[in-house]
Amino acid sequence: MMSPLTIFLIAAVLGVLLIQIYRLKRSRKEYESQVKAWKLRLELDLKQARDERNRLLDALGDAFLIVDGDANIRFANAAAQNLFRGRVLTGRPVSEAFLDPRLADALIQCLETGEPVQSRVVLPQQTSPLGDLETRGTNAWIIDAAQLSDTPNGNPNTRVVIRDVTSEYQLDQIRKDFVANASHELRTPLAIINGYLENLLDDGMIDEPEMARRFLSVMKKHTERISRIVEDMLVISRLESGEASAIKIEPFKLRSCIKDVLERLESVIQNQKASVSVLLNDDAITLYGDRFYWTQVLFNLVENALKQNPYKDLKIEIGSEETGSCFRIWVSDNGVGIPSADLPHIFRRFYRVEKHHSQMEIKGTGLGLSIVKRAIEAHEGTITVTSTPGRETKFLMTIPKNQA
Ligand code: ADP
Repeated sequence: MMSPLTIFLIAAVLGVLLIQIYRLKRSRKEYESQVKAWKLRLELDLKQARDERNRLLDALGDAFLIVDGDANIRFANAAAQNLFRGRVLTGRPVSEAFLDPRLADALIQCLETGEPVQSRVVLPQQTSPLGDLETRGTNAWIIDAAQLSDTPNGNPNTRVVIRDVTSEYQLDQIRKDFVANASHELRTPLAIINGYLENLLDDGMIDEPEMARRFLSVMKKHTERISRIVEDMLVISRLESGEASAIKIEPFKLRSCIKDVLERLESVIQNQKASVSVLLNDDAITLYGDRFYWTQVLFNLVENALKQNPYKDLKIEIGSEETGSCFRIWVSDNGVGIPSADLPHIFRRFYRVEKHHSQMEIKGTGLGLSIVKRAIEAHEGTITVTSTPGRETKFLMTIPKNQA
């Protein structure tokens, strides 16, 4: 038989034990809920950090991708999503995501060798990463790929930047073409002058005054051509310099500008028996712009009409009208016109219509319309051309009123 004291002691020990168990259970619960809260907090922090990183990467203008060691895309920023519009990128192999293998090549090379790669890829329109949305013709991209050194699991990720360098590429091409064309245009008259000089000096023609005079006059004609090309190139380069000082904005009367142009061309107009009519909606129309360039624009357009139609009963019209916010100014003629195949190229530097200059001696520099276009654009305007051969060839310039 247990004494009441023993029973009391056992009950007391059991009670203490139960209290301890209860306490332990409570602290475990507390601990578990704390761990849960920490975990939640950590996940939240991680998510915030990830969102912050994505926001920063999305703010990049260039497409940015992270690719894992198995060449699968792990991350693509907003610019990358835009670039590969309509295609899912994350989780896909690089070779599937990139339409043209040339785009993927540089990246694959970096994945295989671990060495950073930077390469420029020039693509035809149909294989642009922009797909159907590419409208710029040949397009160019820089692929810049490098392995990230801090990938935790030893399977290094690679960061890839895809930069659109199409406009730089096109500008570069234009510059190259310009230098090539300019050299070509200058070479012909220089070679002719050189030939005549050799005749004069080496072949003794200098002692035959009649012949020498003839040679010198041919040389003079070609020297004039060289200086016209150089002058035109200088005008273009000034207009393309983008300097505000290239254009002086002042009010001037369109009518007086037209008068100057017609005076300068008077003898040609008379010789060709061409008729020029001036139809201004408002005789006192005042433009705000650079009178020097406007004179050159109208001169080039009227001179072209005369030059291309030397044997015809030519009618030229210079006109203006006002729409809500714009002035429209045009020069039109009823001459041979411009074949529709040539129309898209007519404002390019040194472009001449083949058909025209096979018929007659080359008279222009092929720079006249480039100057016209650049001068109009420098006045924030646009120029278009339409042509129905034999009926109407019309150069129409639209100038905003706040500028013009
Ligand atoms: P160019 O110095 O040879 O005249 P432009 O740039 O002024 O160079 O003109 C380019 C070409 O556009 C000309 O060579 C000519 O073939 C064509 N062209 C320009 N204006 C006319 C026009 N009014 N009628 C027919 N052809 C034109």
